[in-house]
Amino acid sequence: MLEIKNLHVSIKGKEIIKGIDLTINAGELHAIMGRNGSGKSTLAHVITGKDGYEIKGDILFNGESILDKKPEERALMGIFMSFQYPVVIPGVNNTYFLKAALNARKKAKGEAELDAMDFLTLIKEKIKLVDMDESYLSRAVNDGFSGGEKKRNEILQLLTLEPTFAILDETDSGLDIDALKIIANGINQYRNKDRAILAITHYQRLLDYMKPDVVHAMIDGRIVKTGDIKLAHELEEKGYSWLVN
Ligand code: ADP
Ligand code: MG
Repeated sequence: MLEIKNLHVSIKGKEIIKGIDLTINAGELHAIMGRNGSGKSTLAHVITGKDGYEIKGDILFNGESILDKKPEERALMGIFMSFQYPVVIPGVNNTYFLKAALNARKKAKGEAELDAMDFLTLIKEKIKLVDMDESYLSRAVNDGFSGGEKKRNEILQLLTLEPTFAILDETDSGLDIDALKIIANGINQYRNKDRAILAITHYQRLLDYMKPDVVHAMIDGRIVKTGDIKLAHELEEKGYSWLVN
């Protein structure tokens, strides 16, 4: 589904990503772990099409290069990203935002759009899965939400929009165990054989609930080791320095 080929990314002449190859197939959940500043968020942003980067190499989505596509085109192709620091959109109602985003994608797929009633039925089903109160639906996007609520809201977005490929950047940061379980449960509800996930995290804890197929360790712009959940435990225990050199 996603194929990254010899990717190099620089910001203002400084190389951040230094040659990454990564293939993620439908049905797979890949986790990337790494210290702060190793380039994880940069990688996520480049996949979703944020501008301001000098890019070499290629990124293919279902066999097609996406590097010359705008972020909104990539979103319509089914690429979704949660944010390490979720944005507040004052004045834009959460339900309105989700409905507009979902219908834009449905339209792009040639499917019928949902009317307000059908959407409300759908969203009320989905919001139960993340254990959020219905009152959040009428609030502005993330406005006044606590850290944990923003993260749940991201998972609500994921479950409602049902993208083909989801990138979760530190969806677990700052969550207590109960919230972690709800988030992991939401992510597991989203998973199926036609979808794939790239989860970026510092901690192995969320991964224990999510059961990734593949775990990568990233240091200084490179993937230096790839393994399974055992690698996540090893990183949690030993840190990253044993992987340098
Ligand atoms: P991570 O998500 O792994 O913590 P980032 O991708 O956020 O790492 O950052 C990787 C490196 O790129 C860091 O050294 C960071 O300071 C640098 N960086 C990220 N964004 C910018 C930017 N817009 N301008 C300059 N340097 C940046
Ligand atoms: Mg980051």
